[in-house]
Amino acid sequence: MSKTMIKAIYRKFKKYYQRFVRLESVFYAGTKYTCPVCEGHFNSFKTYRGNSFIKGVKVDHTTKNYTCPKCGSGIRHRLVMGFLKSNVQLVTGKKNVLHFAPEEFITDYFNKFNNINYIKADIDPSKYKNAIELDITNIKLNDNSVDGIICIHVLEHIEDDLKAISELSRILVSGGWLLLALPIYGNQTFELKNLTAKEREFQYGIDQHMRLNGLDLQNKLEKAGFKVQIISTGDLPGSYFDLTLNTPHSESDKYLFFCSKA
Ligand SMILES: [Zn+2]
Repeated sequence: MSKTMIKAIYRKFKKYYQRFVRLESVFYAGTKYTCPVCEGHFNSFKTYRGNSFIKGVKVDHTTKNYTCPKCGSGIRHRLVMGFLKSNVQLVTGKKNVLHFAPEEFITDYFNKFNNINYIKADIDPSKYKNAIELDITNIKLNDNSVDGIICIHVLEHIEDDLKAISELSRILVSGGWLLLALPIYGNQTFELKNLTAKEREFQYGIDQHMRLNGLDLQNKLEKAGFKVQIISTGDLPGSYFDLTLNTPHSESDKYLFFCSKA
């Protein structure tokens, strides 16, 4: 079977699956929660199921009220979109906004604004439509050339995250902003050097992750010249989340770092 045929079958399957997911969402319909990504209203979200090793111990990540039954968004997606929608000053005026590893729902949001020059980027741009190739640790863009950067679940994959943070700061204009999210485990970052992929999976849950970030990521960001505001799910207006959740998965997903360049 040719690659094109496989791709066509996959697209058809995806279309039917998405239609099925949207149909299924009627069983969750209600007024308790609103999803800022799809604007659907629900009495509950779907349960997330999964497990992984964290610091060598198997952790159950099962989390009720996690996934939007209509659009599939998780806590971090609703947090990002809720934050964007309640901070409209980020999309006013003429701005260059750069988005690493671009999530489609964020692209759809920024594409609504004609005043925003929205640029998608990735180390492997072939994964995305109209993305440019950029290495976050060596960004081929001028100093002070970007007004805003979105970087969701990227930095934990980068071995030299300090270099990436300094590059992000370098390309931002003074007063520019960086919207950063990544899985957070507790207060302190946990990182062991020279691990194999298998060892990383055993320590960090995912073999492509280079560390378990803690809230002390704030220090790294401040050292690079950022003023940092940590936003958690409880800080946003609107009912996007079940705030009673307290599982390793919901905890790891509930923070955003909003950084402004001095
Ligand atoms: Zn949704």
